[in-house]
Amino acid sequence: MITYKEARDKVLNRPFSQIREKTGILESLNCILAEDIFSSDDIPVNDNSAMDGFAVNTKDLKGADKNNPVMLRIEDFDIAAGNVGKNILKDGYCIKIMTGAPIPEGCDCVVKKEDVSIKDDMAFFSQEHKKLDNIRLRGEDIKKGSRVFSKGDKITPAAVGVLASLGIKQVFVNKSPKIGVISTGSELVDIDKEITFGKVRDSNSYSLCAQIAETGSSYIRYGIIEDDKDKLCLSIKKAVSECDIVLISGGVSVGDYDYIKDILKDMQANEIFWSVKQKPGKPLAFYILEDKLIFGLPGNPVSAMVCFEIYIRPLIRKIIGFKDIFRKNINAKITQEIKNKSDRTEFVRVVLSKDKNGNFNASKTGSQGSGILTSMSKADGLIIIDTEKGDLKEGETVKVILINEDIY
Ligand code: AMP
Ligand code: MG
Repeated sequence: MITYKEARDKVLNRPFSQIREKTGILESLNCILAEDIFSSDDIPVNDNSAMDGFAVNTKDLKGADKNNPVMLRIEDFDIAAGNVGKNILKDGYCIKIMTGAPIPEGCDCVVKKEDVSIKDDMAFFSQEHKKLDNIRLRGEDIKKGSRVFSKGDKITPAAVGVLASLGIKQVFVNKSPKIGVISTGSELVDIDKEITFGKVRDSNSYSLCAQIAETGSSYIRYGIIEDDKDKLCLSIKKAVSECDIVLISGGVSVGDYDYIKDILKDMQANEIFWSVKQKPGKPLAFYILEDKLIFGLPGNPVSAMVCFEIYIRPLIRKIIGFKDIFRKNINAKITQEIKNKSDRTEFVRVVLSKDKNGNFNASKTGSQGSGILTSMSKADGLIIIDTEKGDLKEGETVKVILINEDIY
């Protein structure tokens, strides 16, 4: 049996080739850019007004104050946003201008409407202004030829907006892996079926697909396959041919009907490890078949989800190209003693709360049995207790891996 750290290294240190794909900018949200993006325009493309007001030349306002306002004649045309005409300021005039409209020739400032008194066709200015007041300069946001985004950047909603303003419809992003999920077990029934004596509803394929979706990757649910070697073999072969990573839940332990390891061996998949010193999730298996990665996950619902959290989520994030592949950690005080007699690393599910000083307290989410799926659904985080660590004392500060990052 290997330790969870050894197992995690074996999963995360495998070389893989990153493939890029072109995608629409809206679809690229949360993806990682696989190219540098340069601007082919100045943004904005011309000097324009930041205010609704009057375009003037600052030298005409020299000496203006409350008692001696400067009077300028208002041009009989105005300049609206989108105006493409060539407008020129005449001596003794000012020009009414709207936000976003191009600055006319001869003007070096816009005085906002609220600061101007108007009588008939005359405008009165009661203060001096500095050059470029209320003018947005050509290229002040983005200079033509400059690098706006770099390979490896994550696409945020603002980045989508910037790409649109650059006239870029599609970008190259790192392709996320396609992941197949197979639930195995003759006791399993799907959600639309009644559960009768001896039956269990398949929750794993749903929780795992949801965990995959959360990473931004796509999944194929291959449904439930009973503990039958031929049927399992067919389903695994299909999933391997269609996906980059295949997750098989159940059937990977030491029971008489746990066939997954035999099937993968017959398929000549290379076993990287099986069985990890951890609780929950001991019967975890990792295989490679050509360039496909196959995980045999324990059938117990908590174990399957914890294994996904610890191994598969960071792997997917690494393949997608995220800089931070792991969850964030916080420190929290535990509210009760947590016994640790196990010779395996334990992943304890905890719920977090904040005390009046804003510090976190962590409490176990009730019973920690690997079949108690609500111990996972209530959990904000996981505490990892290494084998050499003794019992955790009440009030002790521990590191918590946030699986609910919204709580932070
Ligand atoms: P196994 O790993 O196949 O020995 O299964 C361990 C336990 O997990 C058994 O109690 C199974 O009934 C349960 N289990 C296996 N697969 C699923 C699943 N897809 N959904 C819910 N429970 C499951
Ligand atoms: Mg089973």
